Formats: sequence, C-alpha cells, structure tokens
Amino acid sequence: MQHDQEPSDTAASYFLSLIWWPLLYFGALLGAGMAFASAAPLFWFNIVYAALFLAIVALERLMPHREEWLQHDGETLNDIGHTLLTKGTAQLAVAATAIAPMAMATLTRADDHASHLWPTQWPLIAQVVLALVIAEFGLYWSHRIAHENLFFWRFHALHHSVVRLWVVNTGRFHVIDSLIKMALSQAPLYLLDAPLPVFLWVGAVTAITGLLTHCNVETRTALFDPIFATPKLHRWHHSKTLKEGNSNYCENIMVWDHVFGTYLNPAKASPDRLGISGKVASDFLGQIAQPFSRKGARQILGRQTVPDDQVKPVETSDAVARISEA
Ligand SMILES: [Zn+2]
Ligand SMILES: [Zn+2]
Repeated sequence: MQHDQEPSDTAASYFLSLIWWPLLYFGALLGAGMAFASAAPLFWFNIVYAALFLAIVALERLMPHREEWLQHDGETLNDIGHTLLTKGTAQLAVAATAIAPMAMATLTRADDHASHLWPTQWPLIAQVVLALVIAEFGLYWSHRIAHENLFFWRFHALHHSVVRLWVVNTGRFHVIDSLIKMALSQAPLYLLDAPLPVFLWVGAVTAITGLLTHCNVETRTALFDPIFATPKLHRWHHSKTLKEGNSNYCENIMVWDHVFGTYLNPAKASPDRLGISGKVASDFLGQIAQPFSRKGARQILGRQTVPDDQVKPVETSDAVARISEA
C-alpha cells in the first residue's frame, strides 16, 4: 500500500472523481426521502442539506477542479447574504405552498375537487419525475429569458458575476431572480393540482442539484451529463464567452436544453474564463439595489455610466444614481 504511492494516488483520485458525484447526489436524495418520511421533514431535510454542504467543502479541499478557485475573491459574505435571503424567501414560499393547498382543499372539499389532471394514482417516484420535467420547463425559460433579455439579465447577472465557482456561491441569486424562477416553475404544478409531497420533492431535488453544480471538485460524470445538470455542464454555463454561457439552462434534468438546442458539453472540463463583461456593486445592499436604477443597470450591462447622447451635467435629475455608492 505504501509503495507505488504516485500511481495508486492517481488511480484513487481518478476513481473518486468518478464516484463521488453519483454517491452524493443519490445519497442526498435518499436522505431527503428519509427526511420526508420523518416527523419533522423540513428539519431533517436541512440536516441532509448541511451534511451535503460539508461533504462538498471537504472534497473541494481534497480534490479541487481548479486550484485557483480556492482563492478568496472577497465575495463570500455577499454570497452568504444572498443565500440566506433567497433561501429564507424560498422556505417561506414552501411553507406557504404547504398551507395554501390544504386551506384550499378544506374550503372546497377535496372530493368535488374535480380536476383530476394530476396522476395521483402513479407511484410517487413517477409523479416526481413528471413534476421535474414540467417544473424544468419553467426553470428553463425563466433562466433562458434572464440571459437573452436585458431587463431580466440585470437581476441574473449577479449570479454570473463571480470569477470562480465553489459551493458557497450556489445561493448567490438576486432575490427577484429567484422569485421569478420559483413562480414560473411552480405555477404549472399548481394548475395541474400536484400534491404537496410532489412540491417538496421538486424543491429538494433542485436544492441538492444546485449545491452540487457549483462545486469546485474534480468530476468525471460523462455517463450522467446528458441527463442531469452536472457540475461540468454548469461550469460551461458560467463561461464569460457569450456563446458558451448561453447554454445549459436546465437546473435539474437537461431535457429542455436538448429539446431547444442549447445543450453544450465540450470535451474540455471547464471554460477558460468565468464572469460577465459588466460590473456588479461590491457590497450586499448595493448588489440588491443596483438593478433598480438606470445607472446600476448600465453598470451591470457593462455600458458607459453616462449615456453618449447626454452631455455630462445630468447630476440634478440624477436622483437614482446614488444607489451603487450607498
Ligand atoms: Zn444563468
Ligand atoms: Zn450557477
């Protein structure tokens, strides 16, 4: 065991890079299943989520995909701030989605709730797969529009403004960006009367996949890349090169990227440069406020702060321009 150090190390890390992703992904899903079967589903799910987070943190140190992505970029606190804000909002929304259908069912009496659109007779796993495909349609289009439409890009750019990927920037989303995405992915499931466990599972799969896609861990997932949103596919989505970054919009399963022709999986493991050509504010509140002002939006888009057609002295009407300094 102690001889042959080099080759066995290489073989071990190669093997680890092959198995860690499916192990953690399906392991976390199993953990979520156990959490949902328990008396305190949300509590235990958060424990599973935290365990997954810690496992990824350890793997990032043990076998980073890019050494330089371990360097601090000064964005950690902002990343955590956005995570707490969006996760808090998301969990409130989950709580609301738990309460709303029950209240509705009580009000309308479940049995004459005649829209039998949702196949409740299917095994739960089949219902969850169906729900993932449907929710993914909303996730895909809200995400694609956020890239292709400048109005929505001003919110989504925050997520892409990082120049390295690691587990902590998973939750770096502008809260407006997150809310739009949640609404568009969940609304169809509401309209189809999907039951509560299905909603919980879609939320759980999305949370678990998201944590894994941003990690800086050496990964070989060739077998899974065509189906699941793996770290490799998501690294290409973060490319600074527009035609590479405008790809792989799906968050859980790659179905709609295949359908709409935006699936990108080059042989290379990751792009040369991540990030955006514009600039986001450096502080948390500035990042929240920036998309709401004209000046902020121009900074995000990487345009001149002073429009060409306006001569310099516009300070008087410039009430909104304080934002990014605040
Ligand atoms: Zn994106
Ligand atoms: Zn991302």
